[in-house]
Amino acid sequence: MTHYVFTPPASPSLPVQGSALRYPVNRIFCVGRNYHAHAIEMGRPVDKDKAKPFYFTKANSTLVESGATVPYPCATQNYHYEMELVVAIGTHGFRVKEEDAGALIYGYAAGLDMTRRDLQLVARETGRPWDLGKDFEKSAVCSTIVPVGQLGVLQSGAIQLEVNSQTRQRGDLNQLIWNIPELLADLSQFYHLEPGDLIYTGTPEGVGAVQSGDHITGHVERVGDVALTIGAAE
Ligand code: MN
Repeated sequence: MTHYVFTPPASPSLPVQGSALRYPVNRIFCVGRNYHAHAIEMGRPVDKDKAKPFYFTKANSTLVESGATVPYPCATQNYHYEMELVVAIGTHGFRVKEEDAGALIYGYAAGLDMTRRDLQLVARETGRPWDLGKDFEKSAVCSTIVPVGQLGVLQSGAIQLEVNSQTRQRGDLNQLIWNIPELLADLSQFYHLEPGDLIYTGTPEGVGAVQSGDHITGHVERVGDVALTIGAAE
């Protein structure tokens, strides 16, 4: 048995629908600007013919299970939700072809890419990394994972988000600029994808701020629901 100088953090994991076993979370990749209407609302429209997808990461220690209450985070005045389909990887993949990408998928989840928008935009405008805006504690919210089963490679399905029961985001997975096979093929040019890796696939239009006391609910058709309550400022 290995002895450590302090107790190591628990391994982050998520429940799996229909199973007593949990899915251990390795890396968390996030896709930027993957719905046209959201790219436009952020002032950065995407021309797919000239652009490539881009990514940022969150440490797996930022993971929060759906249903949690999280404190309004420090160092921001503009704390935003982003509702996203999450793809959970189930097998090793490196330089995969689009036609083979479906075999990498363990399952899907509904996720929130919580964002300190003010810090992200400062980073964007000054050419600095996005970490302070994106990779902060309790910023990667995720539902139970639904095994891929009969779902196959999702090509469409409603994705929506409400704050205090009022609809704020409403889109469809068929609006993804880079679809799931394209993302897995592209990301695997840069990384050896491994079981436990999560990919947040981007958010539709309608992102916005939340405040202490707000309750967020989100839904991805055939995948499930995610919920988050915003507590007092820390
Ligand atoms: Mn996002």
